[in-house]
Amino acid sequence: MADAVAQLVEMLYAKKRIWVLTGAGISVSSGIPAYRDDDRTWKHSQPIQHDDFVNYSETRKRYWARSLVGFHHFGKAMPNPCHYAIARIQQGGRVSSLVTQNVDRLHSQAGSRQVIDLHGRLDQVFCMNCRDVFSRFDYQRLLEGRNLGFDQGKKKILPDGDAEVEEVLTSEINIPGCPKCGGVVMPDVVFFGGKTSEVKVRDCLKSLKNSDCVLVCGSSLSVYSGFRFVKKASEIGLPLLAINKGIMRGQELFELVVAEACEEILPRVAEELDCG
Ligand SMILES: [Zn+2]
Repeated sequence: MADAVAQLVEMLYAKKRIWVLTGAGISVSSGIPAYRDDDRTWKHSQPIQHDDFVNYSETRKRYWARSLVGFHHFGKAMPNPCHYAIARIQQGGRVSSLVTQNVDRLHSQAGSRQVIDLHGRLDQVFCMNCRDVFSRFDYQRLLEGRNLGFDQGKKKILPDGDAEVEEVLTSEINIPGCPKCGGVVMPDVVFFGGKTSEVKVRDCLKSLKNSDCVLVCGSSLSVYSGFRFVKKASEIGLPLLAINKGIMRGQELFELVVAEACEEILPRVAEELDCG
């Protein structure tokens, strides 16, 4: 492993513009579970689909019941050494873009700037009617106020602020409307089957062209929205490097994969790049 880290540092050291993509693997040690096992198989029950949320009140009830419980835990997550290591590499002036598939905002909390939240952010909600955006923490208080005594006992916490909640509770939840117009409120995240912002995708593709390598941290690249950038980078001949414990989609495209947990590797990489 020492050799692989040394090799990675050596390859990164020569690069001045590293395009960084992060995934669920870097937030695991902040207590946020990942969707998939190391072999890329799905670990949890199927997540909410975008169209179902938009079209069916039953789906929204299911989402908010689970999210009421899940966010209670998720909202308290703190950055871990991976987030701080990336912030340090960025502060050293070596990062051209920091793109994350995570919706937890932990990069920003750790001091990173201009983070592109590819799949949105769970700390915000918006109204599907008037498009007003407001804090998920405020909405959580509204939700809790409307659902006093909603069971917050021992639950299984799932990725992205989700939790397992009994079906019987789902039907009982009272969902507050938009405080401004009473419209339907939606989390500011891209659900499965939803569309990633075209502006963000364009910005990411543009910044790839001004970079001299790609570093993927803690992502199996199973979701196309992240994988597309790796594919593009490979097409334009950028070296691809990764720190990821499990199997990755498109692994054959990479020049180097350090197959270890990010929290073991990233702090050492940041340290050595700083001291080198
Ligand atoms: Zn509204």
